[in-house]
Amino acid sequence: MFGRRSGGAFSDGVSRVAYSDADVAGRRYMIDLMRAAGLDPRVDPAGNIFGRRAGTDASLPPILFGSHIDSVPNGGNFDGDLGSLAAVSILEALAKANVRTRHPLEMVVWSAEESATFTGLNGSRIVAGDVKASDMDMVWSGMTRADAIRKIDGAPDRIMDAIRPHGAHHCYLELHIEQGGVLERQRIPVGVVEGIVSIDLYEVTVTGFGNHAGTTPMADRQDALLAASYLTIAVRQVVTSEPGPQVGTVGRLAVTPNSPNVIPGVVRLTIELRDLSPEKLARLTERIRLRAAEIARDTKTSIEFTTTSQRPPAIAAVEVQRAIERSAGRLGLTTQRMPSGAGHDAQMMARLSPMGMIFVPSVRGISHSPLELTHWDDCARGADVLLGVVLEMDRA
Ligand SMILES: [Zn+2]
Repeated sequence: MFGRRSGGAFSDGVSRVAYSDADVAGRRYMIDLMRAAGLDPRVDPAGNIFGRRAGTDASLPPILFGSHIDSVPNGGNFDGDLGSLAAVSILEALAKANVRTRHPLEMVVWSAEESATFTGLNGSRIVAGDVKASDMDMVWSGMTRADAIRKIDGAPDRIMDAIRPHGAHHCYLELHIEQGGVLERQRIPVGVVEGIVSIDLYEVTVTGFGNHAGTTPMADRQDALLAASYLTIAVRQVVTSEPGPQVGTVGRLAVTPNSPNVIPGVVRLTIELRDLSPEKLARLTERIRLRAAEIARDTKTSIEFTTTSQRPPAIAAVEVQRAIERSAGRLGLTTQRMPSGAGHDAQMMARLSPMGMIFVPSVRGISHSPLELTHWDDCARGADVLLGVVLEMDRA
């Protein structure tokens, strides 16, 4: 409801972009819920909201769990909200039932998870230590990062105090919607995330020769777009040539001169590959490069690759994956292990402690859209599984 257009319905989704007035209102609502659950919410210098319930052994590190409440522009009602609301519900339920845990339990509402603003994973990235003081001068939408953080009651002047050391948590857990269609298609209520995928991004330049589209015979052409088209198809063929959930995308194409009567002389395109295994990505990239060399020869063009970025995977801890499977099993729910193709705050927290994520089905696999939907009983099942994992990890 915070960020829903005025007069809109649930099915209109929300635009609750980080640092907006809607985000501020949603954060205030979360803080009220946390107070009602008996917590004493605290905003850290990065604008993350934490709430902690003491354990019986104060020497133990906390079990941290939560998610985010910011959305993409014109986003859905579930991405991030599910994990944030489940976290506060769990702490409320434990308080009502008077259950004591050994470890302190701490929930978090991460600030600015979506990459709509400065860096993406803004709040968790800072807590994981990926920040320098000068980052506060970054500008987005006419606002410095310092001012944005001040707007959500953070303290940019003390930003380094938000960093937590390695081992700060017993583990980090996050319940999230799948944002893909695998669980729904297979009628499996619980996904056990094996990790957040590695992403390799390449910028490719195809150089041919821009020439007259009317007077250059077909046999004499050095058409960069034709070569880029073959390469786009080759990416798909290589990526689907071995089993597994790996994905590859040619997502951006810039054609020069991009004119109806000129044979394209230069095309710049991106190739993005995702998988949990960096070795598999390296192997696929090598095969795509070999295909590119063949295509260049056949089309009398040159094809050059530049590596733009290679993000390593964030692997979920095996003991947490097993705890999720046992928790689901106790509730009579089937599970499936799967990678997360999308980024999450959990990937930052994996740098500090064992991490695990629980996925629940997204109807028709739609996300980052007002049509995003997860059935309420699937939401509740996810929260129940999370509660079981919290209690099991507390004993571990
Ligand atoms: Zn999310």
